[in-house]
Amino acid sequence: MSPPRPGDARAERLLADHLAVFPGAHAPVPVEEIAEDLLGLRVHLRRGLRVSGMLVPDRRAVYLNADEAPVRRRFTLVHELGHWVVHCAGAAAPPRILCRSDETTGSADVREREANVFAATLLMPEAGLAAGVADGLSVADLAAAYGVSGVAMAWRLYNVGLGPQPSAG
Ligand SMILES: [Zn+2]
Repeated sequence: MSPPRPGDARAERLLADHLAVFPGAHAPVPVEEIAEDLLGLRVHLRRGLRVSGMLVPDRRAVYLNADEAPVRRRFTLVHELGHWVVHCAGAAAPPRILCRSDETTGSADVREREANVFAATLLMPEAGLAAGVADGLSVADLAAAYGVSGVAMAWRLYNVGLGPQPSAG
């Protein structure tokens, strides 16, 4: 049972930058446009990848596993954007390659956790969730609106103080 975690200010700034250029709808967050237009990364879909996703900083490229469900691919993309913003941009010696896989998902690795917090913050903006909850939307409604899994949405609501702690498992 971990206490609520704060979001990532860099993810909030990125979303604000995007909304300044493209005002309007907040849900779902246009993650591919943010990757390509705002961060200058190329997003490639690949079949047969052995991981969910992979960031190659030298090539400014993200590779996503085309065999996985769109909702998972979306989270993977933003997880890799988190690696780019938090661990690569401006770093003297950025990592050569960063992956997301089933092994890294529950990992205690600080970088993996930071990338996941970044992803949750960018994909599920707190202000939008607060408005949705005030309008009486359910966790499932919000998950569908933001293009994330119900589990991810339930945890995000809990972490920003808008929902009960999800039961384990
Ligand atoms: Zn990762």
